[in-house]
Amino acid sequence: MRIDCDFHMHSEHSLDGRLPPAEMVRIAKERGLSAIAISDHNTFAGSKEAMALGDTGVLIIPSVEYATELGHILALFLTRELPKEYLRPLDDFHFEFDRVIDGIHACGGLAVFAHPFKSKARTGAERDIFDRVDGIEVFNGRAAAKFNHDANEKACRAAAELGLFFTAGSDSHTAPELGNARLTLEVEELTLEEVRRALLEKKGTVWGRNAKVLHCARSAFTKWKKKRAFRRYPKAVLYLIGAWGLDLLKRIGLVRGNQGRYFVREGVFVDDTH
Ligand SMILES: [Zn+2]
Ligand SMILES: [Zn+2]
Repeated sequence: MRIDCDFHMHSEHSLDGRLPPAEMVRIAKERGLSAIAISDHNTFAGSKEAMALGDTGVLIIPSVEYATELGHILALFLTRELPKEYLRPLDDFHFEFDRVIDGIHACGGLAVFAHPFKSKARTGAERDIFDRVDGIEVFNGRAAAKFNHDANEKACRAAAELGLFFTAGSDSHTAPELGNARLTLEVEELTLEEVRRALLEKKGTVWGRNAKVLHCARSAFTKWKKKRAFRRYPKAVLYLIGAWGLDLLKRIGLVRGNQGRYFVREGVFVDDTH
């Protein structure tokens, strides 16, 4: 059977997330998703809570998104939470890359480089960042949020060139974004083993659409509120100004819309916006 999966999303267990895991499962089902990875920032809590719901008809892929000095790493199919020995903090948010990768593999998981080109500073020449990962996220719903329109295309090219498996994820932090990116896989049955097998075959089709700037503003605002960093200038305000400016530019036809449609077919990135 053919199934749609969203391999990257955040629940209220992330500092910038808003949704309870049970609500995310309900929305995923409503939107025709068969499998989702609730990949909270540096915590297994969201996946754990969703798995405890029992059989909902939506397969939960146990996952975490770890922040490291080289970038964000999705840990998919974890059989348990990473023990502390693998989590050496570099500051209050980042962990040492090599140890995280070791930990993911020790816990039976697959390490996927999330939105590798979201940061414009990364050109694509420094390919050794992919040396230790098993796969690359080739479509991330938020990778293009900062006028970085070729971030996903670059990721797709890297996965194809390096022969790594690929995933797609909405990176949703709010309800409207959930399911914005999907990977369609062919599986015999809806189990973790089958989804993992199908991923490693590298045959799925990716479909994606970018998050709206307004939703990025909402999660930035959530983070600001949860942190109670009231004295710091809220990033949310910058996003709101950005959203208004972007809308204006779109109206006068200077920038491409947020709701483009993108496909990846046989390793080729297709921009179907126009
Ligand atoms: Zn990330
Ligand atoms: Zn994320």
